Amino acid sequence: MTAPVLAARRPAGDPAGVKNLLASGLARACRYAGTRPDCQVLAAVRYGQLALCAPCDQRRSTLGKGTPPVSLPDPRALLQIAAARDACQQAAAALHAAVARARQDGHPWSAVAAILGGTRQAAQQRFASGHR
Ligand SMILES: [Zn+2]
Repeated sequence: MTAPVLAARRPAGDPAGVKNLLASGLARACRYAGTRPDCQVLAAVRYGQLALCAPCDQRRSTLGKGTPPVSLPDPRALLQIAAARDACQQAAAALHAAVARARQDGHPWSAVAAILGGTRQAAQQRFASGHR
C-alpha cells in the first residue's frame, strides 16, 4: 500500500481534494486559478480580498500594492488529513476483506485474534459479517 503515502507527499496533486477544500470554504482559491499554468490554485497569502498562491504571489507586480500581506495557513495540511483518512478507510476495508478471506479458508477466530492482538470474542464481534 504505497499509494496513500504518495498521495500524502503530493497533496496538491489531488484535484478532487482541492475542489472539496475550496467548496467547503476551508481554503481560498488563487485569483489566477485556472488561468496560469504554474498556478497552484490554493492561496497561500492574501492582500485584503486578493488571494494568491505562492507562485502567483512571486509574480505579483503592483496587484495589492500598499496592502500588507497576510499569510494563510497551508491548506496542504488539510489535504494530508484527507489523504490519511482515505488511507485509514482503505486499510480498514483491506483488513475486513483479509479477515473474511481467512475465515472462509477455515482459520478460527482464535487465529485472527492472535494476529490482531485481542480476544477471540473481540475479533468475532468486530469482524463477524454484518459488523464493521
Ligand atoms: Zn496562483
